[in-house]
Amino acid sequence: MKQLKYIAGILLATVAAMAVLGTISFLLNPDPDVPWWIVGVMFVLGLVPFGGAFLLLRDNLTVASRPCPKCKSAERRIAGVLRRPNKWAQHIGGILLASLWGASRGQQVQCIHCNTLYLTQTRGSRIAGILLWIFLLLALSGVVLP
Ligand SMILES: [Zn+2]
Repeated sequence: MKQLKYIAGILLATVAAMAVLGTISFLLNPDPDVPWWIVGVMFVLGLVPFGGAFLLLRDNLTVASRPCPKCKSAERRIAGVLRRPNKWAQHIGGILLASLWGASRGQQVQCIHCNTLYLTQTRGSRIAGILLWIFLLLALSGVVLP
């Protein structure tokens, strides 16, 4: 159920992003055959799925970060950034996709009690993960990438 909400939220957000991108592309390149009010309606209709996506993804963003896998302690410190850019992500989607990929991988932390290093999701990494999916779906549908 949680996964279903997550997927539905991402799909809604992608639809909304498409409507907004469609509006922007019309503003940059107006078509005299399309009346302005239709563009306005498209934009407003695009905001509805954004609201739905927010409601569906809200739970996911507020989930508590996970405790130490070894001793279950929640006390930890941030342990350096051991992130290198993902080569294929950079190749396919450029720097934007690569940085979203990196940011969505979570943050490396170290348990204060047993010094175990582990990855945990932060609100930022969850948001980056959602943006990554939206970007990938837009890319697949040919909106972002040629
Ligand atoms: Zn620990």
